[in-house]
Amino acid sequence: MSAAAFDAIIVGTGQAGPSLAARLSGAGLKVAVVEKHKFGGTCVNDGCTPTKAMVASAYAAHLARRAADYGVAVDPNPRIDMQRVKARKDEIVRNSSRGVERWMEGLKDATVYRGHARLVGRSEIQVGSQTLRADKIFLNVGGRPSVPAMPGIDTVPYLTNVTMMDLDFVPQHLVVIGGSYVGLEFAQMFRRFGSRVTIVEMGPRLVAREDEDVSLEIQSFLRDEGIELRLHAKCISVQKEAKGLSVGLDCEEGSPREAGTHLLLAVGRVPNTDDLGLEAAGITTDKRGFIEVDEALRTSNPNVWALGDCNGKGAFTHTAYNDYEIVADNLLSNAGRKHTDRLPVYALYTDPPLGRVGLTGREIKEKGIKALVGKRPMSRVARAVEKGETRGFLKIHVEEGSKRILGAALLGTGADESVHSLLDAMYVGMPYTEFQRHVRIHPTVSELLPTVLEDLSPEPVAA
Ligand SMILES: Cc1cc2nc3c(=O)[nH]c(=O)nc-3n(C[C@H](O)[C@H](O)[C@H](O)COP(=O)(O)OP(=O)(O)OC[C@H]3O[C@@H](n4cnc5c(N)ncnc54)[C@H](O)[C@@H]3O)c2cc1C
Repeated sequence: MSAAAFDAIIVGTGQAGPSLAARLSGAGLKVAVVEKHKFGGTCVNDGCTPTKAMVASAYAAHLARRAADYGVAVDPNPRIDMQRVKARKDEIVRNSSRGVERWMEGLKDATVYRGHARLVGRSEIQVGSQTLRADKIFLNVGGRPSVPAMPGIDTVPYLTNVTMMDLDFVPQHLVVIGGSYVGLEFAQMFRRFGSRVTIVEMGPRLVAREDEDVSLEIQSFLRDEGIELRLHAKCISVQKEAKGLSVGLDCEEGSPREAGTHLLLAVGRVPNTDDLGLEAAGITTDKRGFIEVDEALRTSNPNVWALGDCNGKGAFTHTAYNDYEIVADNLLSNAGRKHTDRLPVYALYTDPPLGRVGLTGREIKEKGIKALVGKRPMSRVARAVEKGETRGFLKIHVEEGSKRILGAALLGTGADESVHSLLDAMYVGMPYTEFQRHVRIHPTVSELLPTVLEDLSPEPVAA
């Protein structure tokens, strides 16, 4: 059977594919879009959107418990209707996923294929019994939860971020393996829904890529909410028990086993590149399976680009979307954009959230940059005091000589928003002395950022 010919084929409808399809279709190209599962990919269906919807429900429960602190008399033991929490989340997700599907179906001169796409040549793709051909192919295949080969994992039922979305009840005791971004969001939200929660982490502290003061403050407020932490957990294994399961851990302190009713694996993600026919198209991957790309996101096959999580150059919705912008602007406007031009920026949606931009203190030391640091506890931020949410701190690093802002860790109420003011200043290379002169709205967290920079102290440089 002859191949159906297109100008461009887009595989995957995550955070880069749909916008790219729309832009190319708008530019007059004949486009094929292939999706094997749910339109919108991870972020929409089992990542950002549903977790943040559930974080909002958990926050409501938390505030209800704290209502008396604000002079509001309600039952301090709110009943969690998990079916309603799920239904609310499902509706938000459904609207978003359907929106992407309808958008793709409505594109001019575009054909939507449902099925698993596999490369079968340098410019050909197979979807079911159909072969598609194009001179430009864009892979936006994303990733999936990693399931490490820990002893006993085949003997117990476990949850991932995907199957967590089906829970319409509150687990009695949720054991979360993995103390990083995904694990912490679920841990805090289910604690607030009423579960007993234990986080098991191999490393000596949570979110180990952050500075130690960030990890310690997060550990402190999670513990204060009653979340149990088992750090330094070496040789993790799992085992079925009469009433659930237990996790074997060789921690420095505490019992060597942790019993629970439900297990969540939150130990990282793997790219969906193992069943994509990459070899047939001459596309190389690194050792972890991420598709190798140049600065403009072109793979080792010059007709093929890889965008989003599958290229290993970002693990966020905003980096996947930026990949789309880079590829589209380069193709349609010869813009010369590169993924290496973007600054690292992301948030961890615990409550309070962490807003991070640029280098950490550890990275600054490793690079031997002469830097200064300013830090202020949230208890000295008027807005935080007024909101009754004073956990965390604001920390900003600047370069001593150039006075450029190098990075920041804002851990506190509103930090996922206020971090953008620093991000914008960093993109334009603004010295912190100029940043300090801008007048900001009172009372906000952002208005305190210049104040943090008033009291800078030297940061030790790595020997
Ligand atoms: C629990 C969780 C919470 C998160 N929260 C945030 C957050 O708050 N903020 C943030 O920025 N990021 C967050 N992320 C990360 C974010 O979801 C991802 O970075 C983002 O979805 C990556 O988008 P993508 O376009 O690369 O791939 P994906 O969104 O994973 O989309 C890939 C698509 O390709 C399809 N596909 C794969 N292989 C094939 C094939 N062979 N044929 C056809 N179709 C295929 C898949 O079905 C999928 O629809 C979170 C992730 C998780 C797991």
